[in-house]
Amino acid sequence: MYGSTGKLLSIDLSTKSYTTEDTRPYFKEYLGGRALNHILLFRDTDVARVSPFDPKNEIIFSAGPLCGTTWPSAGRLHATFIAPLPYSGWGDSNIGGAIGPELKFAGWDTVVIKGKAKKPTYIYIEDERIEFKSANDLWGKGVDESNSILRKRHSGSQALLIGPAGENRVRFASIRTHRSNSLGRCGGGAVMGSKYLKGLVIKGSTGVKIYDPEKFLDLSMKCQMDLMDPNFGPLHSQSNAIISQHGTAGFTSIFARKGMTPLKNWSQCGIWAGDVELTEMRGDKWWKRQDACYSCPVHCLGAYKVEDNKSPSSSGGPGYDSLVALGRNCLEPRAKIVLKLNAMCNDLGLDPVELGNSFSTMMEWYEKGIIDEKFTDGVPMKWGNGEGMLELVAKIATRKGCGNKLAEGPYRVGKELGKEALKCVYHQKGMCAPGLETRSAIGSMLASALSPRGSHHLSGFPTTELFNSPSVATRISGFREAGDIRSYHPEAKARLVQFYENLFELPDSMGICKYPLKHSIMPLVKNLQKMN
Ligand code: SF4
Repeated sequence: MYGSTGKLLSIDLSTKSYTTEDTRPYFKEYLGGRALNHILLFRDTDVARVSPFDPKNEIIFSAGPLCGTTWPSAGRLHATFIAPLPYSGWGDSNIGGAIGPELKFAGWDTVVIKGKAKKPTYIYIEDERIEFKSANDLWGKGVDESNSILRKRHSGSQALLIGPAGENRVRFASIRTHRSNSLGRCGGGAVMGSKYLKGLVIKGSTGVKIYDPEKFLDLSMKCQMDLMDPNFGPLHSQSNAIISQHGTAGFTSIFARKGMTPLKNWSQCGIWAGDVELTEMRGDKWWKRQDACYSCPVHCLGAYKVEDNKSPSSSGGPGYDSLVALGRNCLEPRAKIVLKLNAMCNDLGLDPVELGNSFSTMMEWYEKGIIDEKFTDGVPMKWGNGEGMLELVAKIATRKGCGNKLAEGPYRVGKELGKEALKCVYHQKGMCAPGLETRSAIGSMLASALSPRGSHHLSGFPTTELFNSPSVATRISGFREAGDIRSYHPEAKARLVQFYENLFELPDSMGICKYPLKHSIMPLVKNLQKMN
């Protein structure tokens, strides 16, 4: 095999044992990554009947064939599991950083984890060596501290960890690496917590086998350079230039002008005065450094410094979706508050998108008289009450006081409160939407509504429509109207979404990021054509 290692590691926490499997037969039909994860989950578990916290639930991590190579942005790892948060049955999430490549360097495409440990455990993988280690000393600690301890204990390793939120089965608990990256959505952290699994620590000593290393390196370098070349393609190079400089937060004003950035719990959209401070955090007193995932020249990530003894001193993010959820949707314009909230999410292991939506939904309930201060242990959920939000975050992560019910996520809490409360929850399949107001673009709305796991603009986001490109849309779908953001043409929009649903399977399955997708797909397609 080239690219893929051809090896799967299957771990049973209940019996502290593991087996291995040859993954090569799968690659005749499935690329790896997301595609392989889905096949394995549906093969191994009864997805319709197994509940998320049942030891029979599996959490599957796969690094696709390009992951760990020199290809641009080839550092993505895909996780799949029966999801605690959305009602879609299975859920999945995708992470950058360097953890995916480390898994490949250790000689594995995939790790499948099932069962439940008797006490807090972490799994140490160093090439073929697999060890079950006690995590008693880490249980209850934040991701930042746990990471420093583990990286000192196992030098040269990468770790995937949960924080107190995952340990306490908060339905929107994330899984994090030490850098700016999360498996944020669907509640994978709670699945790990239910298994008493604090994390995976991985150290690899091999490389990824390439059929023609010299040619591959040439092509990779060309793509790496094209990616940032403003003359390559006006659409992608411009957007890459924006996110290199400002992170995905740089998209806020562009989307806001198109009416696609929500405000005040999705009840409004458009330009907002509060955006000025929120989107210009780089280069000022909070900015620490630019950051990137493995092998990516775009560098869309950033680390920020938060001056406060109570919260971590520096942290990754926030990206566009977190900024919208914690800032605009809550009418909180202060960058300092949003950075602190985001840093707390990173350390406690919470999904900032669902957390922000929880707050903005409660603010609407409070305004409408559906809840009062008693519901939130004395905190008045007024619009822009950032101090109140800060007070509630740790309670939610540890399920203390009102945090116990809020840890269920806004959809389940809204259902308990009744019909009027549920009307204020903006969700698909029980999970709140990320930061794009898709009701103003019919194709994007269709893509979000049909997203298999729910609330996922990246499972088939029709960028052609967003950037209003009728000529590209005609080539893709056969209809000029598909690329017109104002058009309601049903067949045109359906065909466009179908194309993007299929297209976006590729990066998740190959182990690359979606931002530089065009630059990755075109040379590969040309080369495959030549080979055929
Ligand atoms: S574009 Fe951003 S998220 Fe994607 S691989 Fe590069 S640095 Fe990571």
